[in-house]
Amino acid sequence: MCYQLLAICKICHLTSSPGCDIANPKMGTKFLKIVSLSLPGFIVILLQSFPVLASMITDIRLWSAPDHTRIVVDLTEPIQFESSSQENPPQFHLELKEASLKTPKREMEVKDPFLIKMSLTEVGKNKVKLILHQKKPLKANVFVLKPYQDKTHRLVIDLIDVVQEKKELEERQMQKEIKPRGTRIVVIDPGHGGEDPGAIGPKKTMEKDIVLKVGGKLVHLLNQGKEIQAFLTRKGDYFIPLEERIKIAREYGAELFISLHTDGSFNPQARGSSVYCLSLSGATDEAAKILADKENTSNILGGAFLRPAAFAKDPNLNQILLDLMQNNSMKESFRLAEALLEDIKTINPLKYLSYRQANFIVLKAPDIPSILVEMAFITNREDERLLNREDFQEKMAKILTTSIKKYFRP
Ligand SMILES: [Zn+2]
Repeated sequence: MCYQLLAICKICHLTSSPGCDIANPKMGTKFLKIVSLSLPGFIVILLQSFPVLASMITDIRLWSAPDHTRIVVDLTEPIQFESSSQENPPQFHLELKEASLKTPKREMEVKDPFLIKMSLTEVGKNKVKLILHQKKPLKANVFVLKPYQDKTHRLVIDLIDVVQEKKELEERQMQKEIKPRGTRIVVIDPGHGGEDPGAIGPKKTMEKDIVLKVGGKLVHLLNQGKEIQAFLTRKGDYFIPLEERIKIAREYGAELFISLHTDGSFNPQARGSSVYCLSLSGATDEAAKILADKENTSNILGGAFLRPAAFAKDPNLNQILLDLMQNNSMKESFRLAEALLEDIKTINPLKYLSYRQANFIVLKAPDIPSILVEMAFITNREDERLLNREDFQEKMAKILTTSIKKYFRP
């Protein structure tokens, strides 16, 4: 056991700052423990050295989006890593330092548009190599996420097909250009996705799955006639940052944006539907504020690194014009929210008789009327049962279709 006088990093270490050099394995395989000893007349602060705690890799999973695949590695401790790419065959290599595996080697065949398999191998003492075997060359973004709620330390690798990414963007913009005269464009946003499951019911039903199902049915119904063309922000189980959802809606040229959610509460008795609009001056009540805060944490849970885009930061936009647009969009949102509540109450009890307002990031497009619908409480047994039922999902999609059509034909 070796003791040295403490010279550096006491506060940093004590507060577990992410920038702390103590967490850097370049300093060696030791970490510093601070020991304070009170002696008569003076205080001596000493260091004690112990082996670093290796980070155990406890899980690895992936989420496939049309233009990228996100790989998430769960770890018990923060991690240091080195990455490299290889062209032939296309592979992405990640060497994790001070890491260990539960099993010496793991190889996983995956069903994914861009990946063939992933392999995790122990290479020497406390070193693990992750190899992602790709179908084609891809751009990689690697970042770490700190523990949050029930999530542990996470290492995230986004493998992006830049050609496909550009194609997706061009297709959205093309829809805007080829839109027949008089046709209205509606973008439906199934909340959450991928790493962010949203609220979870007593029977483990996940909000992200229910909203995707209802969203798909809603888009299908809206596209039945010629008057409306509807699109989804996400078509599968992957995460899109909240600001990116607005960007997608704008690329489509949306005239209406509806974000679909299911509510969650610690009170298992809470149930019913509710509708929310943006507020620029604080929430209408505490419950609305709590809900907005919870929905806004989606970016933290889902990992909002990929292509963050904040509409408000566009330097080409005139602030006065933006305010005018925002005022008009909010008025229109209120009109739809009121009409929708009238319609929804014919199929499900309402949590609140009027719409509520709060600072929801996803409703912040200044030029697109936007509302957020909490279809029912997934944390209530009866509501969870309903949300899982195909006929209830159909009913919800139908009632939303009716309200949207009425909105465009006041
Ligand atoms: Zn939600």
